[in-house]
Amino acid sequence: MTATTGSAISSLLREPALIRDAAFVDGDWIRQGGDGTFSVINPSTGTEIAQLPALSREQTATAIDAANRALTGWRARSGKDRSTILRRWFDLVTEHADDLAAIITLEEGKPLAEARAEVAYAASFLEWFAEEAKRIRGDIFDAPLASRRIVVLKEPVGVCAAITPWNFPAAMITRKAAPALAAGCTMVVKPASQTPLTALALAELGARAGIPAGVLNVVVGSAGTIGPELTTNPIVRKVTFTGSTEVGRQLMQESAATIKKVSMELGGNAPVIIFDDADLETAVAGVLAAKYRNTGESCIGANRVYVQAGIYDRFAAEYSSRTTQLVVGDGFGDGVTIGPLIDAAGVAKVDEHVRDAVSQGARITAGGQPSSVGDLFYEPTVLTGVTQTMLIAREETFGPITPLIRFTDEAEVIRMANDTDFGLASYLFTRDSERVWRVAAAIEAGMVGINTGLISNEVAPFGGIKQSGIGREGSVYGIEEYLEIKYLSWEGSRDH
Ligand code: ADP
Repeated sequence: MTATTGSAISSLLREPALIRDAAFVDGDWIRQGGDGTFSVINPSTGTEIAQLPALSREQTATAIDAANRALTGWRARSGKDRSTILRRWFDLVTEHADDLAAIITLEEGKPLAEARAEVAYAASFLEWFAEEAKRIRGDIFDAPLASRRIVVLKEPVGVCAAITPWNFPAAMITRKAAPALAAGCTMVVKPASQTPLTALALAELGARAGIPAGVLNVVVGSAGTIGPELTTNPIVRKVTFTGSTEVGRQLMQESAATIKKVSMELGGNAPVIIFDDADLETAVAGVLAAKYRNTGESCIGANRVYVQAGIYDRFAAEYSSRTTQLVVGDGFGDGVTIGPLIDAAGVAKVDEHVRDAVSQGARITAGGQPSSVGDLFYEPTVLTGVTQTMLIAREETFGPITPLIRFTDEAEVIRMANDTDFGLASYLFTRDSERVWRVAAAIEAGMVGINTGLISNEVAPFGGIKQSGIGREGSVYGIEEYLEIKYLSWEGSRDH
């Protein structure tokens, strides 16, 4: 186990000073919080990593004012200029990838290899939107009147607020900040209180890259204090959020009074459908990846695994055997593949889902209980004989539990897969390409992985339908969320 005393932390980082114990507002590090302090805890060991100031509502308003002052200069720059700064940020994040990964593992708990993968994923949005910053463009149309042209401009939305979760502490920030800054917006970010250190390290690297003071601010502290200021302050023109559907709904309600634009990446309940004609090894490897990445704490994680009757027993045996080979432990440990859950509530929910399933007749074929490794660890678990009525099939589990549900025909499984309020990710495993088209069309989800469990990258439009959200992140579409359309109706423009 890694102790997280000050000296132990220093030995994990090449540049320990990247761990910042202050908020970042208008280019300054704010050490004095109006609402006292809060601790950041290593979930693997339960030890404190840092104490941070809890900003007050007034201090949040100050950050919004700073973002507003910085807006005029930032939006006036050329796309190429903003691109150069974002690209430098990408270079610095890449250069400091090992330190950022260590900070992520310290505060989030995920295995170091996964933290490194997250840094690369997070950096990919900086690179992508550095490129997109140069490609913002409008349109010109002939008007119904022969004397006129219609000119469509794309302009930055303005000051944006981002509220981000703890499960991907780096990527959930760059996926929002990079397109916002590329578009010419400025931003106030409120990271999750469990994982603010990654956000602050990113802000430090952004400042070194040349992001001007006030363009990117990171406020830390209580969500209940900071959130309402971000959602009701009239200066803020957009709220972008990743987190639970419940909180997203609340943020939309709060944002309604001042008619803010919103982007919402909310909860999921991803179905995986494995047909009899799937390649067994592809399906096993795909579900292992989609389920156990980040210890199951992912909104696109496989939540319900439907397996057709003809392949069910073989899949269950192989998948259970592979699950028992996973290594639970501190994310810094050699070969560890399953870290801790983020907190005791996470462990309790996972255990409740397992107990509920077992009480209704499910069978445990791997794991099945809290792990002896430490308080927040849970054994990767496989349940067979799961049915649609069990809690685990109804709710997002957010942990390393795989429920296997048997089905017989395609129409039945599509009905079951769509029987949820959520519609984020989904996964199909089959070698029949006609079936791919048919099922992909019928699935109510924003994303469909076909013969793969890994679907996230910067080129792909990430987002959900139904109560999984509004808007898309990444891809060529992501920047549109930070752009407004202005149209000029130009009488006489065809005379020149
Ligand atoms: P999770 O289950 O991932 O913790 P939450 O939706 O509870 O999901 O939290 C996601 C983010 O939203 C975190 O940064 C959290 O601090 C923030 N948050 C939670 N409640 C509120 C709220 N009432 N107002 C603003 N932000 C909130």
